[in-house]
Amino acid sequence: MSIKVQRRKLDKSRAHFKEAVQHLPLGVSSNFRFWGEDETVFVKHGKGARLWDLDGNEYIDYRLGYGPAILGHCHPEVDAAAREGQSVGTVFALGTEKEVTVAKLIKEMMPAADLVRFSNSGTEAVMAALRLARGYTGKDNYVTFEGSYHGLFDATMWTADPEDMKDQSKDPKVIPYGQGIPQLVRNLFYQVPYNDAQRLEDVLKKHHDSIAAVLIEPILGNCCGIPSKPEFIKAVRALCTKYNVIMIVDEVKTGFRVGRGGAQALYGIEADIFTVAKAVANGYPISAIGGKEEIMRKYGKGVAHGGTYTAQAMSLAAAEKTLTILRDTDALEVIANYGKAMQEGMHKVLTKRGIPHSFTGHHSMSGLFFSAEAPTTYRNWKLSDYTFYDTMAGYLIDMGVMCEPDSREPWFISSAHDQKCLDETLQKFEEAVDLTL
Ligand code: PLP
Repeated sequence: MSIKVQRRKLDKSRAHFKEAVQHLPLGVSSNFRFWGEDETVFVKHGKGARLWDLDGNEYIDYRLGYGPAILGHCHPEVDAAAREGQSVGTVFALGTEKEVTVAKLIKEMMPAADLVRFSNSGTEAVMAALRLARGYTGKDNYVTFEGSYHGLFDATMWTADPEDMKDQSKDPKVIPYGQGIPQLVRNLFYQVPYNDAQRLEDVLKKHHDSIAAVLIEPILGNCCGIPSKPEFIKAVRALCTKYNVIMIVDEVKTGFRVGRGGAQALYGIEADIFTVAKAVANGYPISAIGGKEEIMRKYGKGVAHGGTYTAQAMSLAAAEKTLTILRDTDALEVIANYGKAMQEGMHKVLTKRGIPHSFTGHHSMSGLFFSAEAPTTYRNWKLSDYTFYDTMAGYLIDMGVMCEPDSREPWFISSAHDQKCLDETLQKFEEAVDLTL
Protein backbone atom coordinates (compact mmCIF):
# COMPACT_ATOMS: atom_id res chain seq x y z
CA MET A 1 0.00 0.00 0.00
CA SER A 2 1.28 3.51 -0.61
CA ILE A 3 -0.23 6.89 0.06
CA LYS A 4 0.50 9.09 -2.90
CA VAL A 5 -0.24 12.52 -1.54
CA GLN A 6 2.37 14.01 0.78
CA ARG A 7 2.19 17.54 2.10
CA ARG A 8 2.59 17.22 5.84
CA LYS A 9 6.01 16.75 7.37
CA LEU A 10 6.93 13.16 8.12
CA ASP A 11 10.67 13.59 8.77
CA LYS A 12 10.63 11.88 12.16
CA SER A 13 8.45 8.98 11.03
CA ARG A 14 10.77 8.51 8.04
CA ALA A 15 13.89 8.57 10.21
CA HIS A 16 12.25 6.12 12.60
CA PHE A 17 11.34 3.84 9.71
CA LYS A 18 14.97 3.75 8.56
CA GLU A 19 15.99 2.48 11.98
CA ALA A 20 12.95 0.24 12.49
CA VAL A 21 13.45 -1.64 9.23
CA GLN A 22 16.86 -2.78 10.45
CA HIS A 23 15.20 -4.56 13.36
CA LEU A 24 11.69 -5.47 12.19
CA PRO A 25 10.59 -6.81 8.77
CA LEU A 26 8.97 -3.85 6.97
CA GLY A 27 9.77 -1.83 10.09
CA VAL A 28 6.48 -2.76 11.73
CA SER A 29 4.70 -5.58 13.60
CA SER A 30 1.85 -6.08 11.13
CA ASN A 31 2.24 -6.07 7.34
CA PHE A 32 -0.76 -3.73 7.13
CA ARG A 33 1.06 -0.98 9.04
CA PHE A 34 3.63 -0.62 6.29
CA TRP A 35 2.53 2.17 3.97
CA GLY A 36 5.76 2.55 1.98
CA GLU A 37 9.27 3.62 2.96
CA ASP A 38 8.41 7.31 3.03
CA GLU A 39 4.82 7.09 4.15
CA THR A 40 4.79 4.69 7.09
CA VAL A 41 3.46 6.63 10.06
CA PHE A 42 4.51 5.98 13.66
CA VAL A 43 2.31 7.09 16.52
CA LYS A 44 3.56 9.14 19.44
CA HIS A 45 0.31 8.89 21.38
CA GLY A 46 -3.46 8.96 21.18
CA LYS A 47 -6.11 10.69 23.25
CA GLY A 48 -9.85 10.48 22.77
CA ALA A 49 -10.73 10.52 19.09
CA ARG A 50 -7.31 11.82 18.05
CA LEU A 51 -3.77 10.58 17.58
CA TRP A 52 -0.45 12.33 17.06
CA ASP A 53 2.45 11.00 15.02
CA LEU A 54 6.17 11.36 15.75
CA ASP A 55 6.28 14.64 13.78
CA GLY A 56 3.46 16.14 15.86
CA ASN A 57 0.86 15.86 13.08
CA GLU A 58 -2.59 15.54 14.62
CA TYR A 59 -5.26 13.26 13.16
CA ILE A 60 -8.90 12.52 13.90
CA ASP A 61 -8.75 8.75 14.12
CA TYR A 62 -11.34 6.72 12.21
CA ARG A 63 -9.34 3.51 12.38
CA LEU A 64 -9.14 3.09 16.17
CA GLY A 65 -6.84 0.09 15.77
CA TYR A 66 -9.46 -1.48 13.44
CA GLY A 67 -12.21 -0.84 15.95
CA PRO A 68 -11.16 -1.61 19.52
CA ALA A 69 -10.83 1.92 20.95
CA ILE A 70 -14.61 2.31 21.05
CA LEU A 71 -14.54 4.83 23.91
CA GLY A 72 -11.53 6.67 22.48
CA HIS A 73 -7.81 6.35 23.18
CA CYS A 74 -6.56 6.47 26.78
CA HIS A 75 -10.04 6.49 28.29
CA PRO A 76 -9.44 7.65 31.89
CA GLU A 77 -11.89 5.27 33.57
CA VAL A 78 -10.86 2.23 31.57
CA ASP A 79 -7.16 2.96 32.08
CA ALA A 80 -7.68 3.46 35.82
CA ALA A 81 -9.51 0.13 35.98
CA ALA A 82 -6.69 -1.53 34.02
CA ARG A 83 -4.12 -0.16 36.48
CA GLU A 84 -6.16 -1.59 39.32
CA GLY A 85 -6.29 -4.87 37.44
CA GLN A 86 -2.50 -4.81 37.16
CA SER A 87 -2.26 -4.70 40.92
CA VAL A 88 -3.72 -8.22 41.01
CA GLY A 89 -0.61 -9.42 39.20
CA THR A 90 0.00 -10.39 35.61
CA VAL A 91 -0.41 -14.16 35.15
CA PHE A 92 -0.64 -17.06 37.59
CA ALA A 93 -1.53 -20.20 35.65
CA LEU A 94 -4.62 -20.00 37.86
CA GLY A 95 -7.95 -18.24 37.55
CA THR A 96 -8.85 -14.86 39.08
CA GLU A 97 -12.16 -13.42 40.29
CA LYS A 98 -12.97 -11.04 37.49
CA GLU A 99 -13.34 -13.84 34.95
CA VAL A 100 -16.76 -14.41 36.45
CA THR A 101 -17.63 -10.71 36.59
CA VAL A 102 -16.83 -10.21 32.90
CA ALA A 103 -18.43 -13.50 31.82
CA LYS A 104 -21.64 -12.40 33.56
CA LEU A 105 -21.57 -9.08 31.71
CA ILE A 106 -21.11 -10.81 28.36
CA LYS A 107 -23.93 -13.27 29.16
CA GLU A 108 -26.21 -10.42 30.13
CA MET A 109 -25.50 -8.50 26.94
CA MET A 110 -25.43 -11.46 24.55
CA PRO A 111 -28.12 -14.01 25.36
CA ALA A 112 -26.56 -16.71 23.13
CA ALA A 113 -23.87 -17.06 25.79
CA ASP A 114 -24.82 -19.68 28.35
CA LEU A 115 -21.12 -19.95 29.10
CA VAL A 116 -18.01 -17.97 28.21
CA ARG A 117 -14.30 -18.72 27.70
CA PHE A 118 -11.61 -16.05 27.35
CA SER A 119 -8.74 -15.76 24.89
CA ASN A 120 -6.44 -12.92 23.93
CA SER A 121 -7.14 -12.03 20.31
CA GLY A 122 -9.83 -12.43 17.70
CA THR A 123 -7.75 -15.04 15.89
CA GLU A 124 -7.44 -17.18 19.00
CA ALA A 125 -11.15 -16.94 19.75
CA VAL A 126 -12.24 -17.99 16.26
CA MET A 127 -9.67 -20.76 16.23
CA ALA A 128 -11.03 -22.02 19.54
CA ALA A 129 -14.64 -21.71 18.35
CA LEU A 130 -13.96 -23.75 15.23
CA ARG A 131 -12.22 -26.47 17.23
CA LEU A 132 -15.11 -26.52 19.68
CA ALA A 133 -17.62 -26.97 16.85
CA ARG A 134 -15.54 -29.82 15.44
CA GLY A 135 -15.13 -31.42 18.85
CA TYR A 136 -18.84 -31.17 19.56
CA THR A 137 -20.05 -32.48 16.20
CA GLY A 138 -17.24 -34.92 15.49
CA LYS A 139 -17.01 -33.48 11.97
CA ASP A 140 -14.01 -31.73 10.37
CA ASN A 141 -15.24 -29.51 7.55
CA TYR A 142 -16.65 -26.01 7.66
CA VAL A 143 -18.11 -23.27 5.47
CA THR A 144 -16.86 -19.71 5.10
CA PHE A 145 -18.07 -16.81 2.97
CA GLU A 146 -16.20 -14.94 0.25
CA GLY A 147 -14.73 -11.68 1.53
CA SER A 148 -14.62 -12.75 5.17
CA TYR A 149 -11.69 -12.34 7.50
CA HIS A 150 -11.55 -14.41 10.66
CA GLY A 151 -7.94 -14.01 11.74
CA LEU A 152 -4.47 -15.13 10.89
CA PHE A 153 -4.73 -18.90 11.26
CA ASP A 154 -4.43 -21.27 8.32
CA ALA A 155 -8.04 -22.46 8.37
CA THR A 156 -9.47 -19.06 7.46
CA MET A 157 -6.69 -17.26 5.56
CA TRP A 158 -8.31 -17.98 2.19
CA THR A 159 -9.96 -15.62 -0.24
CA ALA A 160 -11.78 -15.63 -3.54
CA ASP A 161 -9.11 -14.66 -6.05
CA PRO A 162 -9.81 -11.03 -7.05
CA GLU A 163 -8.08 -11.70 -10.39
CA ASP A 164 -10.57 -14.45 -11.13
CA MET A 165 -13.80 -12.51 -10.63
CA LYS A 166 -14.27 -10.94 -14.04
CA ASP A 167 -16.36 -13.81 -15.36
CA GLN A 168 -19.31 -13.63 -12.96
CA SER A 169 -20.86 -16.78 -14.40
CA LYS A 170 -18.43 -19.04 -12.56
CA ASP A 171 -17.09 -19.27 -9.02
CA PRO A 172 -13.70 -17.62 -8.52
CA LYS A 173 -10.70 -19.69 -7.47
CA VAL A 174 -10.15 -19.74 -3.72
CA ILE A 175 -6.55 -18.93 -2.87
CA PRO A 176 -4.54 -18.54 0.35
CA TYR A 177 -3.89 -14.98 1.53
CA GLY A 178 -0.16 -15.61 1.22
CA GLN A 179 2.63 -18.13 1.33
CA GLY A 180 3.06 -20.67 4.10
CA ILE A 181 -0.58 -21.76 4.22
CA PRO A 182 -0.76 -25.48 3.36
CA GLN A 183 -2.80 -26.33 0.28
CA LEU A 184 -4.08 -29.36 2.20
CA VAL A 185 -6.28 -27.04 4.28
CA ARG A 186 -8.27 -26.23 1.13
CA ASN A 187 -9.80 -29.72 1.34
CA LEU A 188 -11.45 -28.87 4.63
CA PHE A 189 -13.77 -26.02 3.75
CA TYR A 190 -16.36 -24.75 1.30
CA GLN A 191 -16.48 -21.09 0.43
CA VAL A 192 -19.75 -19.60 -0.78
CA PRO A 193 -20.81 -16.10 -1.89
CA TYR A 194 -22.03 -13.79 0.87
CA ASN A 195 -25.72 -12.94 1.01
CA ASP A 196 -26.59 -16.03 -1.03
CA ALA A 197 -28.58 -18.45 1.13
CA GLN A 198 -29.36 -20.72 -1.81
CA ARG A 199 -25.68 -21.40 -2.43
CA LEU A 200 -25.21 -22.18 1.24
CA GLU A 201 -28.14 -24.59 1.18
CA ASP A 202 -26.73 -26.31 -1.92
CA VAL A 203 -23.52 -27.03 -0.02
CA LEU A 204 -25.20 -28.03 3.24
CA LYS A 205 -27.69 -30.32 1.52
CA LYS A 206 -24.87 -32.25 -0.14
CA HIS A 207 -22.19 -32.20 2.52
CA HIS A 208 -23.76 -31.63 5.93
CA ASP A 209 -22.59 -35.04 7.14
CA SER A 210 -19.01 -33.79 7.09
CA ILE A 211 -19.60 -30.11 7.97
CA ALA A 212 -19.15 -29.06 11.59
CA ALA A 213 -19.83 -25.35 11.27
CA VAL A 214 -20.80 -22.36 9.20
CA LEU A 215 -18.56 -19.44 10.12
CA ILE A 216 -20.06 -16.05 9.40
CA GLU A 217 -19.20 -12.40 9.92
CA PRO A 218 -22.54 -10.54 10.23
CA ILE A 219 -20.92 -7.51 8.62
CA LEU A 220 -17.90 -8.11 6.38
CA GLY A 221 -15.40 -5.98 8.28
CA ASN A 222 -12.53 -6.51 5.88
CA CYS A 223 -14.72 -5.82 2.88
CA CYS A 224 -15.51 -2.26 3.89
CA GLY A 225 -18.51 -3.28 5.95
CA ILE A 226 -20.80 -5.15 3.55
CA PRO A 227 -23.69 -6.20 5.80
CA SER A 228 -25.70 -9.39 5.83
CA LYS A 229 -29.16 -8.85 4.45
CA PRO A 230 -31.52 -9.60 7.35
CA GLU A 231 -33.24 -12.37 5.42
CA PHE A 232 -29.87 -13.90 4.56
CA ILE A 233 -28.48 -14.17 8.09
CA LYS A 234 -31.83 -15.46 9.33
CA ALA A 235 -31.71 -18.09 6.58
CA VAL A 236 -28.18 -19.05 7.62
CA ARG A 237 -29.50 -19.56 11.16
CA ALA A 238 -32.38 -21.69 9.92
CA LEU A 239 -30.18 -23.74 7.57
CA CYS A 240 -27.66 -24.49 10.32
CA THR A 241 -30.49 -25.79 12.50
CA LYS A 242 -32.04 -27.75 9.63
CA TYR A 243 -28.79 -29.47 8.68
CA ASN A 244 -27.48 -29.91 12.22
CA VAL A 245 -24.46 -27.70 11.71
CA ILE A 246 -23.05 -25.24 14.27
CA MET A 247 -23.54 -21.56 13.46
CA ILE A 248 -20.47 -19.61 14.57
CA VAL A 249 -21.09 -15.87 14.45
CA ASP A 250 -17.79 -14.01 14.40
CA GLU A 251 -18.54 -10.77 16.21
CA VAL A 252 -14.89 -9.83 16.71
CA LYS A 253 -15.63 -6.48 15.04
CA THR A 254 -19.37 -6.07 15.55
CA GLY A 255 -19.54 -7.32 19.15
CA PHE A 256 -20.67 -4.55 21.50
CA ARG A 257 -20.08 -2.02 18.70
CA VAL A 258 -23.23 -2.24 16.59
CA GLY A 259 -25.34 -2.50 19.75
CA ARG A 260 -25.23 -3.81 23.29
CA GLY A 261 -26.18 -7.27 22.04
CA GLY A 262 -23.92 -7.04 18.99
CA ALA A 263 -25.06 -8.05 15.53
CA GLN A 264 -26.99 -10.99 16.93
CA ALA A 265 -29.41 -8.61 18.65
CA LEU A 266 -29.43 -6.30 15.65
CA TYR A 267 -30.54 -9.13 13.37
CA GLY A 268 -32.61 -11.00 15.94
CA ILE A 269 -30.64 -14.23 15.77
CA GLU A 270 -28.73 -16.37 18.26
CA ALA A 271 -25.51 -18.15 17.41
CA ASP A 272 -24.61 -21.59 18.67
CA ILE A 273 -21.14 -20.20 19.30
CA PHE A 274 -19.96 -16.60 18.89
CA THR A 275 -16.72 -14.72 19.26
CA VAL A 276 -16.10 -11.16 20.45
CA ALA A 277 -12.86 -9.24 20.86
CA LYS A 278 -12.19 -5.73 19.66
CA ALA A 279 -14.61 -3.54 21.59
CA VAL A 280 -14.59 -5.69 24.73
CA ALA A 281 -11.86 -3.82 26.61
CA ASN A 282 -11.32 -0.60 24.64
CA GLY A 283 -8.09 -1.98 23.16
CA TYR A 284 -6.66 -4.06 25.99
CA PRO A 285 -6.01 -7.54 24.61
CA ILE A 286 -8.87 -9.89 25.37
CA SER A 287 -11.38 -11.93 23.40
CA ALA A 288 -14.16 -14.31 24.32
CA ILE A 289 -16.00 -17.31 23.00
CA GLY A 290 -19.61 -17.64 24.08
CA GLY A 291 -22.18 -20.28 23.30
CA LYS A 292 -24.80 -22.79 24.20
CA GLU A 293 -24.17 -24.74 27.37
CA GLU A 294 -24.09 -28.22 25.88
CA ILE A 295 -21.54 -27.14 23.28
CA MET A 296 -19.41 -25.04 25.64
CA ARG A 297 -19.22 -27.84 28.23
CA LYS A 298 -17.20 -29.82 25.66
CA TYR A 299 -14.30 -27.72 26.91
CA GLY A 300 -14.38 -29.95 29.94
CA LYS A 301 -14.98 -33.10 27.94
CA GLY A 302 -12.17 -33.54 25.50
CA VAL A 303 -11.79 -30.26 23.58
CA ALA A 304 -8.50 -28.51 24.37
CA HIS A 305 -8.43 -24.81 25.15
CA GLY A 306 -6.10 -22.66 27.20
CA GLY A 307 -3.19 -20.27 26.85
CA THR A 308 -0.68 -18.67 29.20
CA TYR A 309 -2.23 -15.22 28.92
CA THR A 310 -5.94 -16.07 28.74
CA ALA A 311 -8.09 -13.97 31.10
CA GLN A 312 -5.18 -11.74 32.02
CA ALA A 313 -6.09 -9.60 35.04
CA MET A 314 -5.40 -6.17 33.52
CA SER A 315 -7.48 -6.90 30.42
CA LEU A 316 -10.32 -8.32 32.50
CA ALA A 317 -10.48 -5.18 34.61
CA ALA A 318 -10.48 -3.03 31.46
CA ALA A 319 -13.22 -5.26 29.99
CA GLU A 320 -15.40 -4.92 33.06
CA LYS A 321 -15.18 -1.13 32.89
CA THR A 322 -15.65 -0.92 29.12
CA LEU A 323 -18.65 -3.25 29.02
CA THR A 324 -20.25 -1.50 31.98
CA ILE A 325 -19.91 1.86 30.22
CA LEU A 326 -21.31 0.43 26.98
CA ARG A 327 -24.21 -1.16 28.85
CA ASP A 328 -25.11 1.73 31.16
CA THR A 329 -24.42 4.92 29.23
CA ASP A 330 -25.50 6.32 25.88
CA ALA A 331 -22.02 5.77 24.39
CA LEU A 332 -23.35 3.51 21.63
CA GLU A 333 -26.12 5.96 20.73
CA VAL A 334 -23.56 8.80 20.63
CA ILE A 335 -21.42 6.70 18.28
CA ALA A 336 -24.32 5.77 15.98
CA ASN A 337 -25.61 9.36 15.86
CA TYR A 338 -22.16 10.62 14.94
CA GLY A 339 -21.86 8.02 12.18
CA LYS A 340 -25.26 8.96 10.84
CA ALA A 341 -24.46 12.68 10.83
CA MET A 342 -21.12 12.00 9.13
CA GLN A 343 -22.80 10.00 6.38
CA GLU A 344 -25.41 12.73 5.90
CA GLY A 345 -22.67 15.35 5.61
CA MET A 346 -20.67 13.27 3.13
CA HIS A 347 -23.82 12.50 1.16
CA LYS A 348 -24.47 16.25 0.78
CA VAL A 349 -20.94 16.96 -0.43
CA LEU A 350 -20.98 14.11 -2.95
CA THR A 351 -24.52 14.74 -4.19
CA LYS A 352 -23.72 18.41 -4.83
CA ARG A 353 -20.91 17.28 -7.12
CA GLY A 354 -22.89 14.52 -8.82
CA ILE A 355 -20.56 11.79 -7.53
CA PRO A 356 -22.25 8.37 -7.29
CA HIS A 357 -21.78 6.89 -3.84
CA SER A 358 -23.24 4.59 -1.22
CA PHE A 359 -22.63 3.60 2.37
CA THR A 360 -22.54 0.15 3.92
CA GLY A 361 -22.29 -1.45 7.33
CA HIS A 362 -23.56 0.18 10.47
CA HIS A 363 -23.27 3.83 11.49
CA SER A 364 -20.62 2.82 14.03
CA MET A 365 -18.47 1.08 11.37
CA SER A 366 -19.41 2.10 7.89
CA GLY A 367 -17.94 1.82 4.44
CA LEU A 368 -17.96 4.50 1.77
CA PHE A 369 -18.30 3.27 -1.79
CA PHE A 370 -18.01 5.28 -4.97
CA SER A 371 -20.78 3.43 -6.77
CA ALA A 372 -24.48 4.31 -6.76
CA GLU A 373 -25.38 0.88 -5.52
CA ALA A 374 -23.73 -0.56 -2.45
CA PRO A 375 -22.03 -3.91 -3.00
CA THR A 376 -23.67 -6.94 -1.40
CA THR A 377 -20.95 -9.54 -1.94
CA TYR A 378 -17.21 -9.66 -2.37
CA ARG A 379 -17.90 -10.35 -6.04
CA ASN A 380 -19.31 -6.89 -6.67
CA TRP A 381 -17.14 -5.15 -4.07
CA LYS A 382 -14.92 -3.79 -6.80
CA LEU A 383 -17.81 -1.98 -8.47
CA SER A 384 -16.69 1.05 -6.52
CA ASP A 385 -14.22 3.56 -7.94
CA TYR A 386 -11.25 2.68 -5.75
CA THR A 387 -8.82 4.99 -7.50
CA PHE A 388 -11.03 7.88 -6.43
CA TYR A 389 -11.32 6.57 -2.88
CA ASP A 390 -7.60 5.94 -2.46
CA THR A 391 -6.59 9.36 -3.79
CA MET A 392 -9.20 11.11 -1.65
CA ALA A 393 -8.13 9.12 1.41
CA GLY A 394 -4.52 10.13 0.77
CA TYR A 395 -5.54 13.80 0.87
CA LEU A 396 -7.63 13.26 3.98
CA ILE A 397 -4.82 11.58 5.88
CA ASP A 398 -2.50 14.36 4.81
CA MET A 399 -5.01 16.88 6.18
CA GLY A 400 -5.34 15.08 9.50
CA VAL A 401 -8.25 12.71 9.01
CA MET A 402 -6.92 9.21 9.64
CA CYS A 403 -9.36 7.16 7.59
CA GLU A 404 -8.82 3.75 6.05
CA PRO A 405 -6.33 4.43 3.24
CA ASP A 406 -7.49 1.78 0.80
CA SER A 407 -11.15 1.24 1.69
CA ARG A 408 -10.58 -2.35 2.82
CA GLU A 409 -11.88 -1.58 6.30
CA PRO A 410 -14.84 0.58 7.36
CA TRP A 411 -14.50 3.90 9.18
CA PHE A 412 -14.76 3.28 12.94
CA ILE A 413 -16.33 5.79 15.31
CA SER A 414 -15.71 6.13 19.06
CA SER A 415 -17.80 7.84 21.70
CA ALA A 416 -14.99 10.43 21.95
CA HIS A 417 -15.72 11.74 18.44
CA ASP A 418 -17.46 15.06 19.08
CA GLN A 419 -19.03 17.89 17.10
CA LYS A 420 -15.63 19.51 16.57
CA CYS A 421 -14.31 16.29 15.04
CA LEU A 422 -17.40 16.06 12.84
CA ASP A 423 -17.21 19.65 11.56
CA GLU A 424 -13.50 19.33 10.89
CA THR A 425 -13.93 15.98 9.14
CA LEU A 426 -16.69 17.21 6.86
CA GLN A 427 -14.84 20.37 5.94
CA LYS A 428 -11.70 18.37 5.09
CA PHE A 429 -13.75 15.75 3.30
CA GLU A 430 -15.14 18.43 1.00
CA GLU A 431 -11.65 19.76 0.32
CA ALA A 432 -10.27 16.27 -0.30
CA VAL A 433 -13.08 15.44 -2.73
CA ASP A 434 -12.44 18.65 -4.68
CA LEU A 435 -8.72 17.99 -4.84
CA THR A 436 -9.42 14.49 -6.13
CA LEU A 437 -11.87 15.55 -8.85
N1 PLP B 1 -12.49 -11.98 13.11
C1 PLP B 1 -12.84 -10.81 12.57
C2 PLP B 1 -14.24 -10.60 12.08
C3 PLP B 1 -11.92 -9.77 12.46
O1 PLP B 1 -12.28 -8.60 11.92
C4 PLP B 1 -10.61 -9.99 12.95
C5 PLP B 1 -9.60 -8.93 12.86
O2 PLP B 1 -9.73 -7.95 12.18
C6 PLP B 1 -10.29 -11.23 13.51
C7 PLP B 1 -11.26 -12.21 13.58
C8 PLP B 1 -8.93 -11.47 14.06
O3 PLP B 1 -8.73 -10.74 15.21
P1 PLP B 1 -7.27 -10.40 15.75
O4 PLP B 1 -6.66 -9.45 14.80
O5 PLP B 1 -7.52 -9.82 17.11
O6 PLP B 1 -6.55 -11.69 15.84
